[in-house]
Amino acid sequence: IELANQIAAGEVVERPASVVKELVENALDAGADQLTIELEQGGVKRIKIRDNGCGIGKDELALALSRHATSKISSLEDLESIASLGFRGEALASISSVSRLRLTSKPAAQAEAWQAWTSGRDMAVQIEPAAHPDGTTIDIQDIFFNTPARRKFLRTEKTEFSHVDETIKRIALSRFDVDITVWHQAKRVRHYPKIRKNDDQQRRRRLAKVCGQNFADNALSITSEGTPFKLDGWIATADECRHQADIQYSFVNGRMMRDKLLSHAIRQAYERYLPPERVPTYVLYFWLPPEQVDVNVHPAKHEVRFHQQRQVHDFILQAIASALHQQQA
Ligand code: ADP
Ligand code: MG
Repeated sequence: IELANQIAAGEVVERPASVVKELVENALDAGADQLTIELEQGGVKRIKIRDNGCGIGKDELALALSRHATSKISSLEDLESIASLGFRGEALASISSVSRLRLTSKPAAQAEAWQAWTSGRDMAVQIEPAAHPDGTTIDIQDIFFNTPARRKFLRTEKTEFSHVDETIKRIALSRFDVDITVWHQAKRVRHYPKIRKNDDQQRRRRLAKVCGQNFADNALSITSEGTPFKLDGWIATADECRHQADIQYSFVNGRMMRDKLLSHAIRQAYERYLPPERVPTYVLYFWLPPEQVDVNVHPAKHEVRFHQQRQVHDFILQAIASALHQQQA
């Protein structure tokens, strides 16, 4: 069992940032709107994430740590329109097999909290009572301590921290309604306060925290609604945000994606109205009916496949081109 989990871990867990991504997605799936992420040594020594979500009942703790145990798919139909972020049921088991993981949780309806962890080759689950408010904490220490071949690929603390930071930025841009605090080496290094819905000024404030003040000050707001597509967000150019050409975030139905079709459509729109040296920078949210897109192309879930590629491409090209055109007029 341990070996199978460790192999699966290779797909899910590459480095501390991928652990953070999986755990935060779980917390969001659990309905949390407050996350506290504590890191030591860029996450290599420790990653501890506390959420105020629905919690895991005592009887479900062991299941949550076992492979292919997901509470999120109940029928094949669900598989086709996956709304929740996680759906594979192996993140926790995988992470647990390559680290020292402790899971502490308390659903609101349960009087006391319980803590669970696995031990030994067969990954037997142990549990004991614990103290914890409503919600869940996952405490992970010494990632890859038992898989030296993997550990070799970890970079310096600073590099690992910057990967984690980037992962959290993407989440901060996808969930303005969630309060996120990040601690590193016992210092609070990031705080993204929860934003009231549709408060544009507050949204720009979070945008500034994530993408820098220059981007937030210069970015042009986009909103374009069609049927059945919708695009909103902000666009600018790299020179406007002091050459931070790495501000290129696109989200499909709320998930961060790096999609070639999207980036191509964006680039084409820029080429129509701006000189070629103006590199697009953007934070864009594309929405479409979930049944028109496949999200499980890759286990790391960064890729999508649109059923109507041409229409998606043209819609995005049009939406951005017309915003750039209006700005120039
Ligand atoms: P998946 O997210 O694919 O279902 P995971 O291995 O990531 O699989 O998690 C296993 C299960 O543990 C989840 O389906 C969920 O029921 C539970 N779980 C994990 N993390 C949390 C959390 N932070 N709050 C509540 N439940 C959780
Ligand atoms: Mg998950």
